[in-house]
Amino acid sequence: MRATNAFIHLDNIRHNIEQIRIFLKPETKICVPVKADGYGHGAVEVSKTVLKTGVYCLAVSAVSEGKELRDAGITAPILTLSLPVPEEIPDIVNYKLTPLVFDAEYIKLLADGAKQANSVITVHLKIDTGMGRIGCPIEQAVPLARQINSLPLLKLGGMCTHFAVSDSLAPNDIAYTRLQFKRFRLVADAVKKQGIRPGLLHCANSGAVLMYPEMQLDMVRSGLITYGYYPGDITQQFLSETVHKEFALRPVMEFKTRIVSIHRVQAGYNVSYGRTWTADKETELAVIPAGYGDGILRRYGHNLKVSIKGKAYPVVGRICMDQCMVDLGLNSGVKRWDEVSVFGPKETGSLFSAQDIADNNNTIPYEIICAINKRVPRIFVK
Ligand SMILES: *Cc1c(COP(=O)(O)O)cnc(C)c1O
Repeated sequence: MRATNAFIHLDNIRHNIEQIRIFLKPETKICVPVKADGYGHGAVEVSKTVLKTGVYCLAVSAVSEGKELRDAGITAPILTLSLPVPEEIPDIVNYKLTPLVFDAEYIKLLADGAKQANSVITVHLKIDTGMGRIGCPIEQAVPLARQINSLPLLKLGGMCTHFAVSDSLAPNDIAYTRLQFKRFRLVADAVKKQGIRPGLLHCANSGAVLMYPEMQLDMVRSGLITYGYYPGDITQQFLSETVHKEFALRPVMEFKTRIVSIHRVQAGYNVSYGRTWTADKETELAVIPAGYGDGILRRYGHNLKVSIKGKAYPVVGRICMDQCMVDLGLNSGVKRWDEVSVFGPKETGSLFSAQDIADNNNTIPYEIICAINKRVPRIFVK
């Protein structure tokens, strides 16, 4: 086994789902987004784990991701959140995926695909209430719902929208999220007034689940919090002060490697490409076999620290594709082959989580975990 691995603590996913349920009415359904290979954790294992806890359905981005889950034997509903190209429609039908739709042309293409296969496709109508990404303008929701309703092989299984700033505590952002929600409610009511059943109403992503329990409607789509990270401004501290004292998410991924070599250098010795770091005194450098080819991005540069036996040590010099160097100082007691945690849950002895790396690098935890790529084996714990 290679030294560099991502341990996926499935018990922490189960814990996080329990924590999410604190915010939900018993009848509210949960949809877990497992796009981008389960936010880098392994979509199939994550899906199987959450479905066993009573989660209702899954969401992916690409049709190919839905196919992977079906091939693994998963039978729960699977929403495809991004818009596939027409060539992917046969797979949507064959793998019984539930696409989001928002325009007449695409609804017609899906209806044709359903006819060809002589099978029913369930769709959810996506409304753009202010995200400006995909979704129909609010005034088109009723005509599109009517169109879907008139097509015998299409079934309107739900209506949804997506928030742009539900993870922000800025007052104008809070007002914006409320406005998006109000627009969505009005549209859903307008569809109902036409005598059309809108199916499941859903809009809440992680931020909204934690901030706006009144927006949970029939189902929530909670991604990031399932994997153990806090969205945007909504930190653990904020939640424990305002909502729930005991509330705590647990990061699911632990990115670990081992020291493959230690060498002593003298003051003035430079390290790695570009000679960007020079030892200012005699020191010991450890080499770890993980680099940007594993998803430890080069731009983390001198901002990255790793944990070895419960102590923090800085990565020095440029991060290479397959390796990087850690400054141990003298007399660290650290030995060749010792384990190194790049990030992980606290209980595993890691001092840093993907959240810390994100905070130190002006990005979001989503990007840190999605960056861990295919070369790193996922090892599922429990
Ligand atoms: C990714 C995604 C989500 C989940 O967002 P989180 O912030 O991870 O909870 C929900 N809805 C849509 C449409 C998405 O694309």
